[in-house]
This record gives sequence, structure tokens and C-alpha cells, in this order.
Amino acid sequence: MRVLVVEDEVSLAKQLVTALRHAGYAVDHAAEGERADLLGHDEHYDAVVLDLGIPKMDGLTLLRRWREAGQNMPVLVLTARGSWHEKVLGIDSGADDYMAKPFRMEELLARLRALIRRSSGQLNPELRCGPLVLDTRAGKVTLDREEVRLTSHEFRVLSYLMHHKERIVSQGELTEHIYSQDFDRDSNTVEVFIARLRRKLGSSFIETVRGLGYRMKAGS
Ligand code: CA
Repeated sequence: MRVLVVEDEVSLAKQLVTALRHAGYAVDHAAEGERADLLGHDEHYDAVVLDLGIPKMDGLTLLRRWREAGQNMPVLVLTARGSWHEKVLGIDSGADDYMAKPFRMEELLARLRALIRRSSGQLNPELRCGPLVLDTRAGKVTLDREEVRLTSHEFRVLSYLMHHKERIVSQGELTEHIYSQDFDRDSNTVEVFIARLRRKLGSSFIETVRGLGYRMKAGS
């Protein structure tokens, strides 16, 4: 899962990026609206945290531009404290949720998890595939109730597949959702992560659909 943070306040941006990386996301950061606009159009995010008060292009204009262009990733807006007006404008402009500053990081992480789950059609915070369970709250994977240790990239691959378990996910799509922008990407490494996941989880969960990609096996 990959998240874009749009925030100009240096220390808050740093806190957000650190907390999100720690929670297992690939994270990109933009400190102003024009760069955020480019990233939002060119890259593929599972969610965006958007401060409304940013330089070069304000957050509301940015959000409207994305929505007009059909960018439908979930967006959580950060508003100034007590500004009900900003909240209303944010929601009317296409925001999916909002939080007023200052906020608790734990709450932001929980809201973001819920947004990502809902946008991929998952209602339960525990994603299941038979005996394999990915708890999105704890960021943990268990197989027959035994915890399975995964690296951050393995976790992102499995998390993305389990969020979209009813369909085939191509290698290119996976690549878009597990790396941040500054990472030197190589789509071949997806195969490596899949192979490692199969070693750790057993080969019955992730199916290779020839020429198309991967899919969590239904009923397994
Ligand atoms: Ca700001």
C-alpha cells in the first residue's frame, strides 16, 4: 500500500512520513501543491493525506483538480483547528474524511486504514484467506494463528493482494503500490517477493495467472 503526504509544515510532515512508513506503507511526500498535483496524476496511491493550507496551489483546488480528472483515491484532509467551514468545503470538494489539527497519530492511522479498506471493498479490519489472516490494525500476518514474520516489501505485496483478493493484480500494478517514488524500481523483484511469500506461507495462497498477474486463491 502506498500513501502520499501533502504537508508543508516540516516537523509535522516528518512525523507523518515516519509514522506511515513504520505502519508499513510506501510513502511519498510533497511540501507544495504543484508537486502534489503532478504526483497525484502520475503515480498510483492507495490514499492521500492532504493539508489544505499549502503553498503554490491550495489543497481544495488540488483536490478538485484530481476529482475532475477522475483520480478517485481516498483523500483524508487536514484542516485548521475548529474550522467547520474548511471541513464542509473539503468534503464538498471530494474529501473522504477529515481531521482537525492537532490530531493523534493513532487516530489518523486508524482512519486511513478504514479509508483504504473501504475503497477496496473490504469491511472487516481482518483480511482473511482461509487460515491466513492479515490484521490491518496490528500490521500482522498469522497462519493458523501463528505469526509469520514478513519484511516490509513482502508485507506490502501481501496486503495489496489481500485488499484486492477478488481480482487478478498485474505485476506492474503491484510495483506501483509497493514502492515510494524515489525507490529504484524493478518489476522483476515482485516475482522475488512472491516467491519468498510462498516459501513463508506455503504455495497454496497466491495463484499465478499466466500472462496476467497474481490472485489470492479463492477458498484457500
Ligand atoms: Ca499548512
